[in-house]
Amino acid sequence: FTPDDLGAIEKRMQEIVRRNEDIRREVWDRDEAVAFFLKQGEDFKAEIIRDLPADQEVSLYRQGDFIDLCRGPHLPATSKLGDGFKLMKVAGAYWRGNADNAQLQRIYGTAWRDKKELNAYLKQLEEAEKRDHRKLAREMGLFHIQQEAVGSMFWHPKGWRMRQNLENYIRGKMEKGGYQEVSTPQMMDRILWEKSGHWDKYGDDMFTVCTHDHREMAVKPMNCPGHVQIFNQGIKSYRDLPIRLGEFTTLFRNEAHGALHGLMRARSFSQDDAHIFCTEGQINEETAAFITMLREVYKDFGFESFRIKFSDRPEKRAGADETWDKAEGALREAVESLGLECELNPGEGAFYGPKLEFVLRDAIGRDWQCGTLQVDFVLPERLDAHYIGEDGEKHRPVMLHRAILGSFERFLGILIENYAGRFPFWLAPLQVVVATITNDADEYAAKVLAELTQAGVKVELDTRNEKINYKIREHSHAKVPVIMVIGAKEAAEGTVAVRRLGGKDQEILALETAIAKLREEAVIPGS
Ligand code: ZN
Repeated sequence: FTPDDLGAIEKRMQEIVRRNEDIRREVWDRDEAVAFFLKQGEDFKAEIIRDLPADQEVSLYRQGDFIDLCRGPHLPATSKLGDGFKLMKVAGAYWRGNADNAQLQRIYGTAWRDKKELNAYLKQLEEAEKRDHRKLAREMGLFHIQQEAVGSMFWHPKGWRMRQNLENYIRGKMEKGGYQEVSTPQMMDRILWEKSGHWDKYGDDMFTVCTHDHREMAVKPMNCPGHVQIFNQGIKSYRDLPIRLGEFTTLFRNEAHGALHGLMRARSFSQDDAHIFCTEGQINEETAAFITMLREVYKDFGFESFRIKFSDRPEKRAGADETWDKAEGALREAVESLGLECELNPGEGAFYGPKLEFVLRDAIGRDWQCGTLQVDFVLPERLDAHYIGEDGEKHRPVMLHRAILGSFERFLGILIENYAGRFPFWLAPLQVVVATITNDADEYAAKVLAELTQAGVKVELDTRNEKINYKIREHSHAKVPVIMVIGAKEAAEGTVAVRRLGGKDQEILALETAIAKLREEAVIPGS
């Protein structure tokens, strides 16, 4: 098949829908079903049935003279499909996902309740393609990826500035929230990762290297065990708690090639990561403070609301069931005392504890899980963290793993797509272009540039010998939030004409007024 065939196939589908054939489930004997499909030349289906347990009945669906293998359920009749479906693409696939097997083709389609829902979905896809952060990042010169470092970014000056703005923003928030920033080694001995449980539960996703003296080191996929090492230095008292340690260094995860997707899924990235070491009695209060900060942060980026998911114990986990009961109970209590509404997300917790996940909805209706808060009784136990309680005895601290943005890289990807590159002024990689109408204004333009730079505004000068409308079009296309237009008149009067991206009019302001305004807008929120 080629994509050109899809239209013809869709036409046949519509015919079948119009025929309104009943769809009936039949249960066949296994051997009978194998014989039937072999006779039809459907060898793969026969193979699937042969692999079923001997006593299992085979579920088939019949529709007109067509009969096929399916577990169901199905619609009762073909007319129920309506007109809310579309075939999307053709792709190669190997039988049972194994490259040694026969090559097959897979035709992808999508089906919705009606045409209206289908169209809304197609519109969202189209919009998403227009906003694709990889495309916008190329146009805006933010970063690139190349073959020699698949899954990692080469950040260009403008992109790195945005990436650093995010980090600085979060740093400011966390400092105010009583967090202390630390930095722990990029590589640590395998022995430590075995102790922490990561080697066993997470080892497939870790990169390892060998030292000259044959010690196997793992490149860190997360900061948690490192932070416990800092906590464990010296004796801690209950009076020292909570201790909140934050870290923004780079993490590495061995993601499959096929799973990589620009900034959204990378092999190296940094998180706005922190661990709160506290007593069981402090879990509620710390959860509340964290959610308050998270709400403020999301608001600063233009996300007014979010959903919360509660993920409980996964199949693959560390720690005894009683420990999980305690951790899930503590988190549930915190959620209830804050009156938060959560959806349950069964089995999706971290291997060491249950978690809350915070989900944002972007401008075109897509959901992104960003923030997380995880309650962990396991890691402090495994890595032997303790403090001296009021009773003079040793106790285990609870460890809260938390992040608001998730990874800086991914969050930036989400922002690029959410804003379609039209960032809030403070975050924009280039905030102002000073564009001259004639060369008479060059000298004044240089002065404007110098003063804006002094004020902490990211600014560039455009004194090219081009028509002003051409310059405005070009910088608007590059999504620069403010263009300052300067001619002989402005130079003589000490003013500037300020044009905002997307606005039709320009505002004439005294230079000092304009600079004071933009200086304020350039300030990172909350700093
Ligand atoms: Zn952690």
